[in-house]
Amino acid sequence: MKTAMPVSSNNPPTVGRFAPTPSGGMHLGNLFCAVMAWLAARKENGSFILRIEDLDASRCQQEFADQMEQDLLWLGLTWEEGGSKGGPNPPYYQSKCAPVYEQALNFLSEKGLTYPCFCSRGELHAASAPHRSDGAYLYSGKCRGLTSEQQQELAQKKSPAIRVRLPERHFDLYDLAQGPWSHQLTSGEDFLLRRSDGVFSYQLAVVVDDIRMGVNQIVRGQDLQICTPGQQWLWGQLGGTPARYGHIPMLTDRDGRRLSKRDRDMDLTALRQRFTAQELTGWIGFVAGFLDQPEPLSMAELVPLFRWEHLSKTEITMPESFQRRLEEGL
Ligand code: GLU
Repeated sequence: MKTAMPVSSNNPPTVGRFAPTPSGGMHLGNLFCAVMAWLAARKENGSFILRIEDLDASRCQQEFADQMEQDLLWLGLTWEEGGSKGGPNPPYYQSKCAPVYEQALNFLSEKGLTYPCFCSRGELHAASAPHRSDGAYLYSGKCRGLTSEQQQELAQKKSPAIRVRLPERHFDLYDLAQGPWSHQLTSGEDFLLRRSDGVFSYQLAVVVDDIRMGVNQIVRGQDLQICTPGQQWLWGQLGGTPARYGHIPMLTDRDGRRLSKRDRDMDLTALRQRFTAQELTGWIGFVAGFLDQPEPLSMAELVPLFRWEHLSKTEITMPESFQRRLEEGL
């Protein structure tokens, strides 16, 4: 299966999105992703959606979602739909979309594309559990071949999670940021659609929402690239032609660690004290390879400078000069 190549003027208008999980404050790594997604959409005169991926109520908080919106607005990002603003395809909070995911899950189950999984967390994470090249666990397939009698018997003791039944299929893909790549999908990647506690999975929700909101350009971190073949396959099962995907490099600190919610000095609360919005935009444009110097400029001024081919394909280390600038501000 081939994905679409970059758009030509005959294609429908671009609809991009940023879909953060509000399990902590926004950090520079998230912001970089939001900016790249926004620039890629605006460069094509497309529209932009902000969707809050707060499925896991135990990890997510409304105040983080509110703060993320404030941080994006501070930098000068704008969106036509989503967040607290609303729009034609509500709701924009995944925690409010359970009936939509339920319907999609039932549809897949009726097509024979799901199966109940009774494995415990311990079994899934056992020392013998196989791993993918990126370190994630592969599913052993233990519950894939259970008979309906076995399923019924097990269901009396435990409510199961639901997994997708993926085909063994080779995918040739085109990524807007990474170029051509391929992947062999196997049953070891049968991902969860719903956890045993009833919470719908990221993998199901992200595809269902991108389809129902008309998203056709997905720009996100390279850490999610490995999920793309399975998500594209799911997209085909649920709703037709998948979006174009671009997986952008992760940012790292000078020790090579990916920026994360644990880095206090890279979170937006700290960055907003030390940089103006235009200064931070300049730094983002500079590390992305769109500017020769980190000179201050507005988001609108950065749009025409956006080029997929200038963006690194591998991790970007934040320059020493940026880190020094951060420390000076302390
Ligand atoms: N909510 C996901 C995250 O914050 C991103 C999902 C996506 O872009 O597909 O990592």
